[in-house]
Amino acid sequence: MQINEIAEKQFDWVERMGWHNKTVLEALALVASEVGEAVNECRGEAPTQEFGTELADIILRVADLAHWQGIDLSAMIAAKMELNEARGTRGRRI
Ligand SMILES: [Mg+2]
Repeated sequence: MQINEIAEKQFDWVERMGWHNKTVLEALALVASEVGEAVNECRGEAPTQEFGTELADIILRVADLAHWQGIDLSAMIAAKMELNEARGTRGRRI
């Protein structure tokens, strides 16, 4: 499944559940809460089996927000990767 399809599907599900936020800041806070959950899965010597689930939660929250805001996440990711590539090492050694 492509990222924009994931975003639309996630947005539709969250909408059906009645869980959408009123503000972008609230939605971003929930992204941050998922990052915190991912951090908690890394407190031992190695990430737990739930670590991947929390990474997925982060992506799903971001995809939902992007779809809500009319952002073509697939195009944005591709454009940003191109920009990053063009920037080179920015003075850092490889
Ligand atoms: Mg989570």
